[in-house]
Amino acid sequence: MKDKKKETGAFTIVKAVLKYFFPIAFRHFKGYFFCGFTKVLLDAVNPFIGIMTTPLIIDELLGDRNVEKLIMYAAVIVLGGGILNLITSVLGIVMEKYDEKMQNFFTEEMSRRIMEMDFQHTEDKKALDQAEAARTGMSWYSGGVHGISNEFFNAIANAIKIVGVVVLIAIYAPILFLITAVLLAFNTFIRAKSNKIEIESHRNLSKLNRIFGYLGWNLTDFRYGKDIRLYGAADMMTEKWETYNNLMLNEWKWQADKHLPLNMLMMVSDVLRDTGTYLYLGILAITQKITIGTFSQMLSAGSTFHSSLQNLMWNVQEIIKRTNYAYEYVKFMNYPAAIEKGTRKVENIPHTIEFRNVSFTYPNTDVKVLDNVSVTLKQGEHLSVVGLNGAGKTTFVKLLCRLYDATGGEILLDGVNIKEYDYAEYMALFSPVFQDFKLFSFSVKDNIVLDNKADEKELDLLIEQVGLKDKISSFEKGTDTMLFKAFDEDGVEFSGGEQQKIAIARALFRKSPVVILDEPTAALDPVAEYEIYRQFDTLVGGKTAIYISHRLSSCKFCDRIAVFSEGTIKEYGTHDELVIIDGGVYAEMFAAQAQYYR
Ligand code: ADP
Repeated sequence: MKDKKKETGAFTIVKAVLKYFFPIAFRHFKGYFFCGFTKVLLDAVNPFIGIMTTPLIIDELLGDRNVEKLIMYAAVIVLGGGILNLITSVLGIVMEKYDEKMQNFFTEEMSRRIMEMDFQHTEDKKALDQAEAARTGMSWYSGGVHGISNEFFNAIANAIKIVGVVVLIAIYAPILFLITAVLLAFNTFIRAKSNKIEIESHRNLSKLNRIFGYLGWNLTDFRYGKDIRLYGAADMMTEKWETYNNLMLNEWKWQADKHLPLNMLMMVSDVLRDTGTYLYLGILAITQKITIGTFSQMLSAGSTFHSSLQNLMWNVQEIIKRTNYAYEYVKFMNYPAAIEKGTRKVENIPHTIEFRNVSFTYPNTDVKVLDNVSVTLKQGEHLSVVGLNGAGKTTFVKLLCRLYDATGGEILLDGVNIKEYDYAEYMALFSPVFQDFKLFSFSVKDNIVLDNKADEKELDLLIEQVGLKDKISSFEKGTDTMLFKAFDEDGVEFSGGEQQKIAIARALFRKSPVVILDEPTAALDPVAEYEIYRQFDTLVGGKTAIYISHRLSSCKFCDRIAVFSEGTIKEYGTHDELVIIDGGVYAEMFAAQAQYYR
């Protein structure tokens, strides 16, 4: 279970994390760093007010008992300390506010990255785990930029305090260093062990959290409600939930069991330190090597030395621990691209697409789902891709749309490998409507135009063309009507067919030269599917079009038909050419389905 390898040295990680976060944070949140450094200085000075003044009071009480002097010393302690505390706590509050802003900032950056990362990562378990580790690492465990820099600020303040008390102790009670140092080394060793346990657990917990998130989402999302009820999946879901819950509890228990003996050792070490300190300083005072005032001063200097040194060690360990968690975020943000991207501009000419001996195997599998596929598509041609389920039709389109890179052969646009083109420019050529298209819980309009500006007339025309005019105009808010009920009680649930029409409108609105329609919906009967293709084909006009189906709905009006079978194009030609091939796949399919299309 504990399969953690030390991938990178602690120092390298700290450096990488600082290099990634701090320039960005400093650019956007200068005020935070101003408050932080001011607080460092005040924190460092604070304990010295007491350390320097208390012995003066004690020696004054044991000596001349000058009331004016005593009042002045007391005032310095009370007022000086009070004012410093007040300012530092105000600075602390201001910094907390920045903390929230910084967290939101980096969460937003991560969401953007998730939305823009290469599609195939969304099917890659490693990438998904990395995203979860980044999310929890950044927000919970590291405390974000605030969590990390706070440790840095504290480390600086503690270092300054240490230098101050070291000078005092060196003058009056040098052996105090030895007592403190030995026991501190012991404490640090234990704490390092304790941190290691937590870091080890983090990876396991991230994975469990991801599964939990999925179950939590599915269990409570109404959209899944139907399937859960119909198939009686509630028991199965709850059972799974309990299984993972137990795994999670085991992980926490493992942590707690490992921590217990370490915590006890830490307590023993504290007792030993106090005993040593009192014994040593007591002897110095009794033998009159130091005054009573200095005895008390050394006690507090010793305790400040110990606590500051311990805190400094703690800060360093926390910095290492927290940067380790935050490093998951850095790794995620720099997750290697899944596909190659170039810089070549797409020329403004009629485009020719060519698959040349293309083969493909999905990542982490060893089955060739496309094997030596070659086909050419000229601008304006309409290609029908047919074949049984699992033949490789959708994969063919996924490669064309750069969701994956071909593993063999090449795909060319205007004679140039598509990997060489600027990704965004290339992608702008396509408007696909995938089988599993998703509409958002936003307005109808937002679903169609996404982040583009909508010309109302154009939008209305499009809605009319896809056959949604009556439906949309029956709503009070028209195209501003919200889909689904996630954000709006008055949101509307569209039927599957209507949702598809919106998806088609979205594809057409994009005005790209190539449109792709992937099996409108398996739930449609062949005649309804034929109708959708036919209507779509008139809307598509002179654009290049690719229609995918395990049926022959679109074959009649397409220029060419590619018949996929077991990852290869078995037959290619027009309807008339293919239907006469004796024993041909197409001819057989047509014979079986002809009743629908005659
Ligand atoms: P079709 O669209 O013709 O029904 P697909 O292109 O969807 O066929 O699938 C072709 C083959 O690739 C199938 O055997 C399918 O199980 C497999 N496949 C599809 N997607 C993935 C994936 N993400 N990872 C692994 N195998 C996949």
